[in-house]
Amino acid sequence: MQQGAVWQAVLGEIELSVSRGNFVTWFKNTSLLEVSEEKIVVGVPNIFIKQQLERKYSDLVSDTLKRNGVVAPIIEYKISNTPVSKPDETTDLESVSDEDDLGEPRVTTPQSSLSHSYRQGLNERYTFETFVVGASNELAFAACQAVATSPGTKYNPLFLYGGVGIGKTHLLQAVGNTLAGRNADAKILYISTEQFVQEFVDALRFRKTATFASHYRTADVLIVDDIQFIAGKEKMQEEFFHTFNALHQANKQIIISSDKPPKDIATLEERLRSRFGGGMSIDMQIPDYETRCAIVQSKAQAHDIVLPQDVVEYLAVNVQTNIRELEGALNQLLAFCEMRNLDPTLAVASSLLNVSKTRPKHLSAKQIIERTARHFQIPIEDIVGPKRDKDIVVPRQIAMYMLRNELHLSFPKIARELGRKDHTTAIHSVEKIEKESKADPSIRTAISEIREHLYA
Ligand code: ADP
Ligand code: MG
Repeated sequence: MQQGAVWQAVLGEIELSVSRGNFVTWFKNTSLLEVSEEKIVVGVPNIFIKQQLERKYSDLVSDTLKRNGVVAPIIEYKISNTPVSKPDETTDLESVSDEDDLGEPRVTTPQSSLSHSYRQGLNERYTFETFVVGASNELAFAACQAVATSPGTKYNPLFLYGGVGIGKTHLLQAVGNTLAGRNADAKILYISTEQFVQEFVDALRFRKTATFASHYRTADVLIVDDIQFIAGKEKMQEEFFHTFNALHQANKQIIISSDKPPKDIATLEERLRSRFGGGMSIDMQIPDYETRCAIVQSKAQAHDIVLPQDVVEYLAVNVQTNIRELEGALNQLLAFCEMRNLDPTLAVASSLLNVSKTRPKHLSAKQIIERTARHFQIPIEDIVGPKRDKDIVVPRQIAMYMLRNELHLSFPKIARELGRKDHTTAIHSVEKIEKESKADPSIRTAISEIREHLYA
């Protein structure tokens, strides 16, 4: 993976967590100059920006780099004359940004002539094309596509909810990007609830609530991410209620995400709760194993890398709860291999990812054997019994292999667990499965699936 690509990914994330003005001012013309085990060097255009990044944004930068697989004890900011800006962006739009340059978040005021201010918060990295669809998210995907096709008519509001890192922001942004691409004049606002609250607080402080209100109430599409953070903020809820009504009455599309359904958001005003539930609510789940594999493969391909299937499966099995972490693990692997000039093999992946973290302590030999028998739909008595039919011998060998790999049991113990007297049977079986799993994808899949169930 190229340094440039890593930095673009980092900037993409930072762009979503700071205001547009701050992003343009502090991050726009930065680049990644050097990555080594000792240090990371970030190129910046001038001393002013250097100081600001060191003082105010160093945690944000190092955390975001880390999430993208780049870690070093030192992060240095170096003034460099060759700022890298994206070739497809015109700089004149940026230079007329009305927003602050002193690091204070300020209210974004409506701009009549600048279309880019209507694209607030959108990150073009997130599209429908790059979203992998599976059973866990197909409903959400379809609803978002419907909304992108005919906003304001079908599902209003569209409310997506589900755990962390499972693709809510990605889908919300994809709707925004699609609409923005289709209609250059549409006023599409994407905002995280935290930023929304911050802007509102600032509006109160600087007596600009009218400007704030009119900015949001004149949107054509309003996308509010992570609405759970509005809990307990009464004034903000009041303000949002009116914004919501104004938009809804004008048939403007509203899209909201949350980590839980409206009824479970503590201290959410009843009237908002009922507004949120008044359209379409969709529960998103963590993608299943096959979808996770497809996501890993497609993210690797985006870096022009085709990962060996065993590595894909390894990542998908070991990072099960969160696609952001799955992506982080992949980026970590690719960055590691890039820096050391290695191929991303299973051995590298497994040495890099600390699997023991996800391994439940209580996993027993019995559970592994039971799970393996269940997977192959054979009775446990058969797998630990004397039968020598092929459709029992192979599962038995796989069970031995799993006992060795997951629990690191000794060969005599493995043999005993499966009712064998001779420990050389266990040695032979483990070796055989090790070898065959390299050649035979069905064996690999079986192992992955058993493992997935064991650690689910
Ligand atoms: P959430 O908002 O639910 O916390 P995000 O939308 O930020 O999660 O997703 C986290 C990361 O995982 C993003 O980089 C996103 O692109 C990626 N991701 C999640 N689901 C998918 C998917 N189905 N296909 C491709 N990428 C996905
Ligand atoms: Mg999100």
